[in-house]
Amino acid sequence: MDYAKVGFKCGLEIHGQLDVGKLFCECPAVLRKDKPDFNVCRKLRAMAGETGQIDVAAAHAQAKGLSYIYEGYNSSTCLVELDEEPPHTINQQALDAALTIATLLHCEIPNYVQVMRKTVVDGSNTSGFQRTALVGLNGELETPSGKVTIMSISIEEDAARRTAEDKVSVTYRLDRLGIPLIEIVTGPDIKTPEQAKEVALSIGRLLRATGKAMRGIGTIRQDVNVSIKGHQRVELKGFQDLKSMPGIIKGEINRQSDILYKKEKPESHVRNVKQDGTTKFLRPMSGAARMYPETDTPLIEITQKNLANIKKDLPEVPEKKLERLMAAGLNDDLANQVLFDKKFSVLHKKFPKLDPKLIATTLISTQKEARKKAGQERGEFTLEHFEYIFKLLIKCDIAKEAILDILVLVATGEKIENAANNFKLMSDAELKKEFDKLKKEFSKVPAEKLKGVMIGRLRGKADIQKILKLLNQ
Ligand SMILES: [Zn+2]
Repeated sequence: MDYAKVGFKCGLEIHGQLDVGKLFCECPAVLRKDKPDFNVCRKLRAMAGETGQIDVAAAHAQAKGLSYIYEGYNSSTCLVELDEEPPHTINQQALDAALTIATLLHCEIPNYVQVMRKTVVDGSNTSGFQRTALVGLNGELETPSGKVTIMSISIEEDAARRTAEDKVSVTYRLDRLGIPLIEIVTGPDIKTPEQAKEVALSIGRLLRATGKAMRGIGTIRQDVNVSIKGHQRVELKGFQDLKSMPGIIKGEINRQSDILYKKEKPESHVRNVKQDGTTKFLRPMSGAARMYPETDTPLIEITQKNLANIKKDLPEVPEKKLERLMAAGLNDDLANQVLFDKKFSVLHKKFPKLDPKLIATTLISTQKEARKKAGQERGEFTLEHFEYIFKLLIKCDIAKEAILDILVLVATGEKIENAANNFKLMSDAELKKEFDKLKKEFSKVPAEKLKGVMIGRLRGKADIQKILKLLNQ
């Protein structure tokens, strides 16, 4: 399809959850499955705004007369989530992560961050608004198929999550309310459905590169805005995975073409992506965001010192890191597996002389194999275990081949020092002594069999080449 010819326009809005506690209180950012400790019931009442008018959407929500039930926990939600207490100071780690992304995407960063309130009328925010703050503007992202503009980067609060619903009430759980989200909005200049996937993948990697992104399904959400010439913008929500994204966008182009061909009335609206990759009408597009300043939080100054610190700790751009790892001999699969592995980053930095491929295979496959051999599928090897092993390896105190055996012993509960001692290589003098002793012991073994016997006895204790050399003498 010639996407330029049909007037294809596409932009993304990406929300990534951060694993750094809540944005405006000190509660942990954990979604709980156990029974809540308390329920609070509220009704929504629409208030006139500064113009004296009542918002239509808010009035509509009030007219429904629903009760909103909020489920909370004594130990992990507080009065801030219930909107009974003003927001606390903004979470600095969350703000720093947003500034890191804004810097990586070459955005202009304002001198002051002003927290705003964005009206939300579905009850998913106890306050009736979502707090959001702009931290970057006018950036750009390089992709294999061209540059894409970044319109804005914000830090905002996630909403409460819906756990039940009936004719008279909606139940929300407060555990998700206030989890920090980084929102990244691209310009409408994505040129093909494939490029939309590239952009989503690339931004997802940047989020993970901060080291603060939450992991797992639903932690990064993509909204895709799509239109063709003659049709208004349609928003697609609820993508399950990035692989299916181009196909779903192509489906939307066809749907819009059909509407225009049949001369039906094209309408701007939001569609939900279903499991089978088709989409269905979800709701009309909401009006322009209704925002006003949050008066309970002060302006946050972003100083040159703040920005210098962000730049000092800037993570390597994930695509560049992938290229570098693959140039060092890692295949595509292995490079992607260790791309965000914290242990790999630390070990790779600490042991620059060690082959990164060996570090990666030790972390990905060798440790799995060791646990399996030890019959301990659950155990975790610590960073210190690997550091200990790699230090010995660098000093030539153990052979590469011994890594698996050492880890097997550690997995069965042996201390790393004792496990490694079993595989310490002998010095040349020790080897010679042991060799001579064994030679005497097996003096009656025929020469052609002696080689096998000696290697069997000395393997793992000395370099195989050194053993062969002694045998040849
Ligand atoms: Zn709280």
